[in-house]
Amino acid sequence: MALVMMPTALNAQAFSESELSYVNTATPGLFKNGNSFNICSDDLLKMGFCFPIPGCKLISDWNRDNTGHSGVDIKTFANDTVRSAFDGVVRLSRNYGGYGNVIVVRHPFGLETVYSHNSKNLVESGDQVKAGQPIALEGRTGRATTEHVHFETRINGVAFNPHWLFDIENHTLQPVCLEVKKTGDGASVQVKTKN
Ligand SMILES: [Zn+2]
Repeated sequence: MALVMMPTALNAQAFSESELSYVNTATPGLFKNGNSFNICSDDLLKMGFCFPIPGCKLISDWNRDNTGHSGVDIKTFANDTVRSAFDGVVRLSRNYGGYGNVIVVRHPFGLETVYSHNSKNLVESGDQVKAGQPIALEGRTGRATTEHVHFETRINGVAFNPHWLFDIENHTLQPVCLEVKKTGDGASVQVKTKN
């Protein structure tokens, strides 16, 4: 049953040049089964889950509308281990402008997580990773004034507020379903139900 809910195969060979080059890029075939679908934290938890840097503190919040900050900044200490939140495939691993060294992992349901400013990336595009697997070391590459992880959640290239899915304070997942709707070339995401 769970396989029916996976719009995107975790197949590294399917990555296009754009997917291998850009943080913000569409996911081919994401809406092939309809113009909307749900991502529920219960289903994500079945695959395993790890908060990206256990023990971290939030130092700068999502504020896309006012400052353009399209993620949350979470911090422990320099060169701490950064871990994949869920099972997935590394779509992008490169140095990328203000992001510095950045990793993008694509998970089932088209969910993507972004980990940036890394002092070092530990995985390559196409690598399969498990929840909790080390993928990078915390750093301050790119546009950063202190060691931290700029963490984003994206669907079809569009960033959404990580707080909708992650309880940043408690390092857990929110008990939610997110409704993802096709909008032009992107997607709209909203919190649909609380379990
Ligand atoms: Zn940031």
